[in-house]
Amino acid sequence: MSHPPSQPRTPVFAANWKMSHGPTETGAFVERFTARHSRRSDATVVIFPPAISLAAFAAAASDRPDLEFGVQDVHTELEGAHTSGISAAMVPATGATWALAGHSERRREFGDTDADVGRKLVRILEAGLRPVLCVGETLEERESGRLAAVLETQIREAIRPLDRESRAGLVYAYEPVWAIGTGRTASPADAAEAHAIVREQLARAEGCDAERTAILYGGSVKPANIEALLSGPGVDGVLVGGASLDPDSWAAICAAGG
Ligand code: PEP
Repeated sequence: MSHPPSQPRTPVFAANWKMSHGPTETGAFVERFTARHSRRSDATVVIFPPAISLAAFAAAASDRPDLEFGVQDVHTELEGAHTSGISAAMVPATGATWALAGHSERRREFGDTDADVGRKLVRILEAGLRPVLCVGETLEERESGRLAAVLETQIREAIRPLDRESRAGLVYAYEPVWAIGTGRTASPADAAEAHAIVREQLARAEGCDAERTAILYGGSVKPANIEALLSGPGVDGVLVGGASLDPDSWAAICAAGG
């Protein structure tokens, strides 16, 4: 397993396009976004297009190496009879350097378990990609007082198969399921509370580097709430779905906190 160096907590602005923006729209997005967004030396901007648009993204952004990009998921296996699967080993050749793991839509729609997420993290790290481990509770879990237990289990089980040296290479995204795509945003206080739980868990886990690990917030982030969310203690960036699809709105988000 390769061991990405532990990074300081550089703010990360991450866009998850999900199943939006095919190759044609991707080219148009990059053209408009790059006209509005200047390179930031104090933050990382990373976009997760659908896999079918990776080549279009790489081509359109070839003169903007500051724009990093990644895949939204990888298969637990590296090759073979897995129709539609994406092998982590094949990703670097596209130019992509990041991968999401454990997004709540993968967990809900495709049944990804914490053990699957752990196997995917192993593949992602073996391929030399930078993983973003997504965790978050449902409304029912939050309302029944299980926020901390849910986050702790998701993290503990996902990092279980990783060797100690690899664990410090993860970025985390706290994404309350009830805030994803709903227009409901966690209050800055809710986000700070959850981020503190994640960081406490990292401080207890062998190999993790709680103080140097970036923890992003995700869930209905938009230009109107980005500054408030980013100002919360322990919020090191954002993972954005809907509001990242429009290049103007994404440029406004990526300008925050500067
Ligand atoms: C996401 O899918 O990770 C997400 C946070 O989506 P949205 O911003 O649309 O809530």
